[in-house]
Amino acid sequence: MKIDIIGDIHGCYEEFKELTKKLGYDWTSGLPVNPHGRLLGFVGDLTDRGHHSLQTISMIFNLFEKGCLYYVPGNHCNKLYRYFLGNNVKILHGLETTVAELSAIPRIERDRYRDMFITLYEQSPLYHVLDDGKLIIAHAGIKEELIGKQSNRVKTFVLYGDITGEKNEDGTPVRKDWASDYKGDAWIVYGHTPVKEARIINKTANIDTGAVFGGKLTALRYPEIEVVSVGSSMPFVEEKFREFE
Ligand code: MN
Repeated sequence: MKIDIIGDIHGCYEEFKELTKKLGYDWTSGLPVNPHGRLLGFVGDLTDRGHHSLQTISMIFNLFEKGCLYYVPGNHCNKLYRYFLGNNVKILHGLETTVAELSAIPRIERDRYRDMFITLYEQSPLYHVLDDGKLIIAHAGIKEELIGKQSNRVKTFVLYGDITGEKNEDGTPVRKDWASDYKGDAWIVYGHTPVKEARIINKTANIDTGAVFGGKLTALRYPEIEVVSVGSSMPFVEEKFREFE
């Protein structure tokens, strides 16, 4: 299987378009199509903070309907899903930009985005196991012993990462560096934690290079394990990027 997996987009639709063009996709049909039949994968976090969350939703939904993408939800997708269900979620941490886009359009349009997103979310797995188990796509990654399992522990891990319940000084949750201990044979491709350069270690690839924080939008080409990025038009926010030793 040949697939190009895209990091956290967070509404950076123009960057996505530019990245897929750089990867050789043709947009003549209005959607990215690879002339060699390569597929697209998404690590989730399609919306929030960027300028074009709704356009990103409809593009992903159209690809989903054509059956030519592998998407897994991120924590922002999970929250937007709960918002669309009418749950009482806090409109914070970037959701406010998506809600503002929704508030600016007529109700009938709003309902259309809601229905698209709910369908996409409910029909997507928490993580994908692809290429006979040799490739896994999970938003925040997955520990080797959790692969193949479905539980609340798995759900928390793939959406939020290896969190302990502890908080950092700035109030953000402590995320452990599970990737540095990974010993599995399957490639795990994930996002969630912005890094300045894609971080490839022990057959894991973090491809969230913080497009929405002024970094880059990154794709990982599989099975080549080649990183392709484009710059972002967003202002650079240094403190959002995590450094690893
Ligand atoms: Mn994210």
